[in-house]
Amino acid sequence: MLRANKVILVSHCVLNQNSVVHPLARAKGAFDEITKMIAEMGFGIVQLPCPETLFLGLERSPMSKEEYATPEYITLCHQLAQREVEYLNLLQQGKVSIAGIVGIDQSPTCCQYNEVGHFMMAMQQYDEINGVPKIDMSELYGESVEATEGFNEKFKLWLENL
Ligand code: SF4
Repeated sequence: MLRANKVILVSHCVLNQNSVVHPLARAKGAFDEITKMIAEMGFGIVQLPCPETLFLGLERSPMSKEEYATPEYITLCHQLAQREVEYLNLLQQGKVSIAGIVGIDQSPTCCQYNEVGHFMMAMQQYDEINGVPKIDMSELYGESVEATEGFNEKFKLWLENL
């Protein structure tokens, strides 16, 4: 029985920077250090959907939270959140715990603190998510060695305290 029965939810682009608005990608693919730390500590990784790509595709331009605040986009975020929570329910029924959630700071969709993004707002309406420890990837991650190493340290501590 190898299962550790614990998972971390990550915003889609933590594992796939191809999904971010073109000029804003901060890695070739995954944030590999972050991914490695999560895996090495025995957590499964659940990749959340990328609502912005599903709504506007990969050629979209950067937009603010206000610009995304249309009924169509908010409905999509709620539909995606509901779908995700159905899956999380299955995990929890199987005794797998949701140990933490990794969002994206400053994202109009996936930020969990400051200005909570549309998708995370939809997710936070569910009991399955409330009370789960949260962290947002620094907006400076990948922009400089100092910022990246500083956040890696912070992230490691966060994981160790889950
Ligand atoms: S922050 Fe959210 S919406 Fe934006 S690219 Fe990442 S996963 Fe997609």
